[in-house]
Amino acid sequence: MSPIEPTVPAGTPLLDVVGLRKSFGSTEVLRSVDLSVSAGQVLAIIGPSGSGKTTALRCLNGLEVADGGTITIGRAPTVDFGVTPSKAQLASLRDQSAMVFQHYNLFPHKTAIENIIEGPLVVQRRPEAEVRAEALELLERVGLADKRDTYPFELSGGQQQRVGIVRALALRPRLLLFDEPTSALDPELVGDVLGLIKELALEGWTMVIVTHELQFAREVAHEVAFIDGGTVVERGRPDQLLREPQHERTRQFLRRLL
Ligand code: ADP
Repeated sequence: MSPIEPTVPAGTPLLDVVGLRKSFGSTEVLRSVDLSVSAGQVLAIIGPSGSGKTTALRCLNGLEVADGGTITIGRAPTVDFGVTPSKAQLASLRDQSAMVFQHYNLFPHKTAIENIIEGPLVVQRRPEAEVRAEALELLERVGLADKRDTYPFELSGGQQQRVGIVRALALRPRLLLFDEPTSALDPELVGDVLGLIKELALEGWTMVIVTHELQFAREVAHEVAFIDGGTVVERGRPDQLLREPQHERTRQFLRRLL
């Protein structure tokens, strides 16, 4: 059991994205992305490299500011990117989710435990004793209590990613976002990290996971969305979408992977 439980009752709509658009200069990366997830559900996003998957995830977490469309997460008010959102609106959206990155993105000059407590202490201003105790529990949970005072460069990729995941949990987000969480790992370390993510899914965390691990998506996701050219081409139950895709572009993509 996680020491920090998901906070939203299962089945409540938790994420609703409509018509999300984002360009970098003259490159239109997201043309119109629609996504939705209910509490306790896992959405896997698949698609070719460069199709906009990471950008979509970063827009959800406020790491990129979308140019158009709306995002609603949890109880935060809907943010309409068609008009310039206020700082307060963006902050309220950002508070709802936490991101796990492909390259872990731990602070290199902070120890494992310092990485975990940074957000809860500095951003959320929670009491230090409580935050430290919770961080230690989280490290114990992922078998890294003895690494609490270790710096990222002294940890394996798998260990760094486990710290990355509990760092996200420590923020007590409503929504966990994973951006290809295992694609930088040596093959023998992938299973451990996927196993941890699966455990969190079974505990009822709501997640959006960008992944190339189709077998994992089939096992863990409630829904799979195929993104290509900055839009969701097709979405559906994993067994349906992965076995009997409706669109030629999805078929081509899956043929290349399988
Ligand atoms: P994916 O995750 O599907 O591989 P990305 O969202 O990372 O795709 O990237 C989609 C496109 O957007 C790529 O062509 C990429 O080069 C471009 N892109 C992403 N971030 C930026 C940025 N900050 N500035 C300019 N172009 C970017």
